[in-house]
Amino acid sequence: MTASSHERVPEIQRRYLDTFRVAHIPHRFSDVLILGSGVAGLSAALEASSNSQTEILLVSKSALDECATRYAQGGVAAVLSPDRTDDCLENHVRDTEEGAAGLANMAAVRTTITEGIDRVRELIELGVEFDRDEDGKLDFTREGGHSAARILHRGDTTGQEIERALLTAVKKRPNIHLLPNTFSIDLLTVDGVSAGALLCGPDGQPQAAWARTTILATGGAGHLYRETTNPAVCTGDGLAMAFRAGADLQDLEFIQFHPTTLYLAGAERFLITEAVRGEGGVLRDAAGNAFMPRFHRLADLAPRDVVSRAILTVMAERNENKVWLDLSGIPTPRIRVRFPAILEFLKGFGIDILKAPIPVRPSAHYSIGGVRTEIDGRTNVEGLLAAGEVASTGLHGANRLGSNSLLEGLVFGRRCGSLAARRASTVSLPRPFSTATAREGRDGGGSQGPTDPGNEINLEDVRRSLKSLLWYKVGVERRGGDLLSALEQIRAWIPYCLGAQFDSPESWSLQNMLQTAYLITLSASRREESRGVHYRSDFPKRDDARWKRHSTLSRN
Ligand SMILES: Cc1cc2nc3c(=O)[nH]c(=O)nc-3n(C[C@H](O)[C@H](O)[C@H](O)COP(=O)(O)OP(=O)(O)OC[C@H]3O[C@@H](n4cnc5c(N)ncnc54)[C@H](O)[C@@H]3O)c2cc1C
Repeated sequence: MTASSHERVPEIQRRYLDTFRVAHIPHRFSDVLILGSGVAGLSAALEASSNSQTEILLVSKSALDECATRYAQGGVAAVLSPDRTDDCLENHVRDTEEGAAGLANMAAVRTTITEGIDRVRELIELGVEFDRDEDGKLDFTREGGHSAARILHRGDTTGQEIERALLTAVKKRPNIHLLPNTFSIDLLTVDGVSAGALLCGPDGQPQAAWARTTILATGGAGHLYRETTNPAVCTGDGLAMAFRAGADLQDLEFIQFHPTTLYLAGAERFLITEAVRGEGGVLRDAAGNAFMPRFHRLADLAPRDVVSRAILTVMAERNENKVWLDLSGIPTPRIRVRFPAILEFLKGFGIDILKAPIPVRPSAHYSIGGVRTEIDGRTNVEGLLAAGEVASTGLHGANRLGSNSLLEGLVFGRRCGSLAARRASTVSLPRPFSTATAREGRDGGGSQGPTDPGNEINLEDVRRSLKSLLWYKVGVERRGGDLLSALEQIRAWIPYCLGAQFDSPESWSLQNMLQTAYLITLSASRREESRGVHYRSDFPKRDDARWKRHSTLSRN
């Protein structure tokens, strides 16, 4: 097992962002409360609902299908084809371990890759239509870091197809109750044990959802960065909520940047999947030179962190704000079949990818770190489980292989659902309590307590400034001085933003973003080496003697 360094962060003491009295708000009770409706939350719900006696409440802060899962393009990795001789389970294990740069939790790797095969088969049974060749056999593609073509896909909208099938199945289960457009403000705990969550519904009114088990499946935190591939729901709420509730957060410094995001004034930062390079796409500078062979023996299929840094180096050398992804080496019929959504989307901006290259640059893509969990999804807070991008099982170590995260959501979502269903018959329902009167400290209203911010805070300005700060100072390349000045800046925002009492999802989200940004920056400043996706220009080498260990932050 890999060692871990543990640090307490007493600066962030506030326990609840909002307080309530039992008599003043409505209450709901369920066996299992699931926060999040992406691949992890839906997989957990389906599994927990297999016992028709188990009552499940599933919450999402936006529309049910508005999540990172829906935007996944490339696919899901699984060694699935029984008649293939060029791949095996051990190869997938080895590739994942190699990608993880010395920090893989091998139990999580083996569990994901072994159980993932059945989870993907179940998706097909649920009606997911992955692409097939003319003979009707599943069509596999390859992505960076994978030694064989083992990625199942549905055009370039694989996530949308998976989300559709899971959501359709979930809607058929009478014991799963859905609450879309409902923001989870905080996890409720009593004496350090999970009791449910405080929610805010579409009517703006708070309500308490009490549950025997709570599963956190709130996804990642890409929107802490100015440039990101993530949808707007990914603001790191789950990380901040879990931290306030006493959960350990692990390896937050490891943020994966995707090298090829569309960079076009006025267009959203649309991801251009790595599969484009898998199929033969080539990165070129403005003069048309293919530059990746200069940086890595795998050229355009080098690991994502290497490609991201190479792009930034070329941009700096040439004083340009983007590079170009050239698809001219991919046959036109293949582009039409494999990348129809990219073709269509770019047409809307006057770019015909059959004839012209795509302007791209890196952006924040995936939160590798998260709430530390055991192999069954348990966190250190009793009754609180976590799965998907919000969790840190150690599967990805310090670097994630493309298409392994949908798989992780399927496997650990189901594991959490299974554990939560077992707990339904052994754990009592919590007794409602008021956070307004709870004692200070561990479960109380916060030792600092909310303060009146005095002058009106321009929340939008803080949000924009925070996202720029992280992009420039805690981005693809980091330096000690920048990290410390970022920490100082966030520390300056904390008292008047985090100390204030707000009453809308946008403002609670910003409070979460500030907390999460602080913790990510703190972790990045502590790790004085370069490993996986964490690159420190002042410590450019990997240092196994000092740093071959996970980093853990906790409130208590
Ligand atoms: C553009 C893009 C392309 C990708 N391509 C691939 C790929 O090809 N293959 C692959 O394996 N991975 C890919 N990934 C990564 C993968 O999609 C995600 O890691 C995975 O889908 C995360 O699933 P999840 O269930 O953990 O979270 P999500 O799917 O992000 O779901 C999070 C859920 O939590 C809810 N939520 C968040 N905060 C709150 C709150 N405060 N209250 C209530 N609800 C809340 C949201 O509403 C949402 O329902 C891609 C990611 C992106 C952004």
